[in-house]
Amino acid sequence: SDTSTSPLLAKLNDKQRAAVEAAPGALLVLAGAGSGKTRVLTHRISWLLQEQGESPYAILAVTFTNKAAKEMRQRIEELSNAPMGRMWIGTFHGLAHRLLRAHHKEAKLPEGFQILDSDDQQRLLKRIIRSLELDEKKWPPRQAMGYINAKKDEGLRPQHIDASFHPVERTWLKIYVAYQEACDRAGLVDFAELLLRAHELWLNHPALLRHYQNRFRHILVDEFQDTNTIQYAWIRMLAGNQNNVMIVGDDDQSIYGWRGAKVENLAQFLKDFPGAETVRLEQNYRSTGTILKAANALIDKNSDRMGKELWTDDVDGDTISLYTAFNELEEARYIVGQIRKYQDEGGNLSDCAILYRSNAQSRVMEEALLHRSVPYRIYGGLRFFERQEIKDSLGYLRLMTNRDDDAAFERVINTPTRGIGTRTIDIIRSTARSEGVTLWQSCQRLLADSGLAGRAASAVRNFMELISTLEAETEQANLKNTADHVIQHSGLLAMYQAEKGEKAEARVENLKELVTAAGSFIKPDDAEEMDDLNAFLANAALEAGERQAGESEDAVQMMTLHTAKGLEFPQVFICGVEEGLFPSQMALDEGNRLEEERRLCYVGMTRAMKKLTLTHAESRRIYGRETLARVSRFVGEIPAQYLDEVRLTTQVSQPQQKGRFNQSEQRFNETGFTLGQRVHHPKFGDGVILNFEGSGPQARVQVAFDGQGVKWLVVAYARLEPR
Ligand code: ATP
Ligand code: MG
Repeated sequence: SDTSTSPLLAKLNDKQRAAVEAAPGALLVLAGAGSGKTRVLTHRISWLLQEQGESPYAILAVTFTNKAAKEMRQRIEELSNAPMGRMWIGTFHGLAHRLLRAHHKEAKLPEGFQILDSDDQQRLLKRIIRSLELDEKKWPPRQAMGYINAKKDEGLRPQHIDASFHPVERTWLKIYVAYQEACDRAGLVDFAELLLRAHELWLNHPALLRHYQNRFRHILVDEFQDTNTIQYAWIRMLAGNQNNVMIVGDDDQSIYGWRGAKVENLAQFLKDFPGAETVRLEQNYRSTGTILKAANALIDKNSDRMGKELWTDDVDGDTISLYTAFNELEEARYIVGQIRKYQDEGGNLSDCAILYRSNAQSRVMEEALLHRSVPYRIYGGLRFFERQEIKDSLGYLRLMTNRDDDAAFERVINTPTRGIGTRTIDIIRSTARSEGVTLWQSCQRLLADSGLAGRAASAVRNFMELISTLEAETEQANLKNTADHVIQHSGLLAMYQAEKGEKAEARVENLKELVTAAGSFIKPDDAEEMDDLNAFLANAALEAGERQAGESEDAVQMMTLHTAKGLEFPQVFICGVEEGLFPSQMALDEGNRLEEERRLCYVGMTRAMKKLTLTHAESRRIYGRETLARVSRFVGEIPAQYLDEVRLTTQVSQPQQKGRFNQSEQRFNETGFTLGQRVHHPKFGDGVILNFEGSGPQARVQVAFDGQGVKWLVVAYARLEPR
């Protein structure tokens, strides 16, 4: 190829290069997993900067996570050898937030507006449902949240919704209206609202839109298949008729349909930009031949695909391991054992990812890792910034910057307890409601009109003074000292120190960790418009769950399959590959969601570079219930030649200290069998011991027979033989 081309293009194949160097206009890069879509996007930006002399100022790039945005910025800086300071690279939410900060007046938001995360949102809704005197059982806050977010994702305000013929929807709508009023009063913006407001900013302020249209001549969107209606509408408007838009995506990896994502946006894009060019990438650079062929065979079971070929010139490599565990504890132990083995052979822990369908699966995995002292990091599960004690602290900080933040007010008004009882709080709420003011303003009125008396009045006055004092005392302090001061002087630290037990200790640790986090917080380049505290608070809300402390440590990576999108790891374990869990029961019940589950499986499998292991358990305790499950249909859809079945052949040798194993051990002594042991029955064939019951001549065992289902048998008569 042409040696005079920029070194930027040297490490790209012809099709990738064509996409990077594409002429101005609209471009769709449609390609399967691991084919270099994200790489193309990053190189395109660098190419625009270096070869086309574009300014970083003219570029807007959307990624799926903040982590991806950070990595992309770094990559571009490496490729371009220049700092990319304030370039607009971020998630839809992050970019919308930045835009709203810069134009809060036009967006009708107070300067100190705060972001409401989904936990806050649910709490606020709960309060509103009560204040409307609705039955929470009939109108669950969670469902209200789903309703409101779905409407916002569609771009719908209450006035756009006609519910006159739907008595049920009429009530949801009433909740939506009351909720939105409360948010607006308090200067609170939920995640969906960020996007909707940013869209309305375009709609209501044509001059502003024109300004940004003139500025962002290049718009690039990764993971486009998972954009929702309002996100696409926002991009569509920004692009106008003159700007260059490059979208990259893979219809086979659309996995957020349940949350309003519209894979149809791909087709819509081609309609909206009739001149759009389509580039298909077909070479996969990530996975071995075996992993890729297996994933291709699986996704081939879906109908309605846009159709893509994917090949690799990599070796076939290891077969995929399929491990059958007798329960989830043993499944976890197997995975940890494999990871240990990999580590003993010189591998890094951070090469290993454990992926699961449901967050509920992570706890058992964590315990197994802890048990063998394997460091791990969870993405998106145990969110640091969502922990109770952290949110309490943030509540004070938020109230210090914005007294009208009702969510923060509710959170800390009586935490730690300061003698402000529910009755007083009810009075504050009802005054706020009847006068249409925020909780803080309601307190001010009540105190002025003697609406509160005696002890209640002085307790409320003290609380308000505390907030003002905290603010005054930290006026000159940096972020770290501010956090430290607030934790100490709000009484939170003392409160958690006074609690007993491991949990309380962990909370105290976390409070200290928050001070550390504040100390090491570097205001992102793109947050120049904000003061440190506001930037920190916004970061806490937007990045919750994405980042964990101690990021540099070599640790196993744990996350849901959804969170793993776009990432890659040499060693991937997908656990709980069982009917009812993956595909999930909900997907099975609803029928039309099965294909999305299959895409999720495709996403999971294609994260693996060298080695993929699938595991399932024949019995699992999850959501507090013990269930027996068959291996997932997805396993059956992978051609057998790529799979290597690993079966438990030895006894369970290392019972855990706590939990179910002790009981099992006792029962083991009475029946002569162990849990998980392989046995043979003259009639039912081979199976595995799942459970025990009774003793003496009544002793029974539960056996899962291969292909014959699960049966209880009386040991004395069953003629079971160990295999
Ligand atoms: P996904 O659909 O999972 O998001 P993707 O299409 O975005 O995948 P990338 O993550 O960009 O794929 O690339 C997958 C891997 O292949 C990366 O490690 C990337 O560096 C590598 N890669 C891509 N193109 C090339 C190439 N031309 N030469 C060498 N390596 C490449
Ligand atoms: Mg990608």
